[in-house]
Amino acid sequence: MEHLKQKILREGKVLPGNVLKVDSFLNHQIDPVLMQHIGEEFAMSFTETGVTKILTLESSGIAPAMMTGLKLGVPVVFARKRKSLTLIDHLYSAKVYSYTKNETSEISASKDYISNEDVVLIMDDFLANGQAVLGLLEIVEQAGASLAGVGIVIEKGFQDGGRIVRERGIRLKALTTITSLTDGNVTFKEEQ
Ligand code: 5GP
Repeated sequence: MEHLKQKILREGKVLPGNVLKVDSFLNHQIDPVLMQHIGEEFAMSFTETGVTKILTLESSGIAPAMMTGLKLGVPVVFARKRKSLTLIDHLYSAKVYSYTKNETSEISASKDYISNEDVVLIMDDFLANGQAVLGLLEIVEQAGASLAGVGIVIEKGFQDGGRIVRERGIRLKALTTITSLTDGNVTFKEEQ
């Protein structure tokens, strides 16, 4: 996705620890026009799979998931990273380890919004070591729902997440794949 690549090249900042900061359009300030294009791209990729629900993780997965949900005409559920006062039980939950934060958190989503009749598209902003996606997958499994696939805005191809997800036979669509962040430079996988 050329628009996304150009945005990453112009505005992305490489931080120590192989972290890409994209706060100017995805993780803090949000570019709605880019999100619209992102939503259209994911909707096109997954329209044949019969998605009934999108499941993402707060907070940075919500914007791309919303635009995809709008295009596909399906609701978006975001798993919470913190316990909510109004969401105490009747929950699916999974543990997610974050390498960037070096901490494990418990993500959860209400049983009211995902059932065994759903076909779920999992979405997130980044795929790195795959822990967030595996946690969301666990929620889909707990619900007994079917999986349409996984949609990722930026895959860090030099980390293991993509391999782990593909090896499970899951359909994975990454809009852009970064092969290296060495020396502050972003390198993309060619064919995207
Ligand atoms: P994973 O669970 O695949 O290791 O990491 C994915 C999660 O960590 C995403 O939800 C994302 O929020 C965060 N993350 C991982 N790598 C990066 C990165 O380079 N930049 C940003 N902004 N977030 C990242």
